[in-house]
Amino acid sequence: MLGKTHIAVGCAIYFYIAQPTDFKSLFADVAISIIGSEVSDIDEANSKVRHVFSWLLVGIVLLAAAATFIKNQFELTLTLPTCISTSKNLFTLFLLVLLFGYFSHHRNAMHSILIDLILSGIIAIWIGQYGYYFFVAFLSHVLLDTLNHKPVRLFYPLKIGVKFNICKANGFVNNVLFIIATVYAGNMFYQYIMKFLSL
Ligand SMILES: [Zn+2]
Repeated sequence: MLGKTHIAVGCAIYFYIAQPTDFKSLFADVAISIIGSEVSDIDEANSKVRHVFSWLLVGIVLLAAAATFIKNQFELTLTLPTCISTSKNLFTLFLLVLLFGYFSHHRNAMHSILIDLILSGIIAIWIGQYGYYFFVAFLSHVLLDTLNHKPVRLFYPLKIGVKFNICKANGFVNNVLFIIATVYAGNMFYQYIMKFLSL
């Protein structure tokens, strides 16, 4: 499946299982669903999420170097956002798991239930119910990928590859799923926006 299809399906499933209560939860839940439905492909050489993660790593390294320089030269300390500074260990652990996935083979560890549980668990401890939405979105990605011809290591570290060979990544099923999921998720998003605006 293409990245846009994974995102559309991840968002559609979110709207099917959840009822956001305000703008904040709506946008935060959709953002976490988008990340969850795409992050698996960090292990694919040309994926957008891999490029984004590469730039994120560069940004973190540059920021750390700048913070060290400023601290040494001017004796000033940069303050991290509260959500990161209070959970530095969880944030670091999350990044390390993504880094592990970054260097893994495509459709191996990053397309497994084990990594889904680990990342969702970290998010759940870190920011509560978002872990559940992340878990579902991540699972939707790996299950959709099993429909293709390339095996998915769903039960990693077991060396069993799962594939159903039903469709191509850019074929008819992908297009149909993309259209249905986009229409459903788009409509639900619009309905919630209208609902919250009228409150
Ligand atoms: Zn994938």
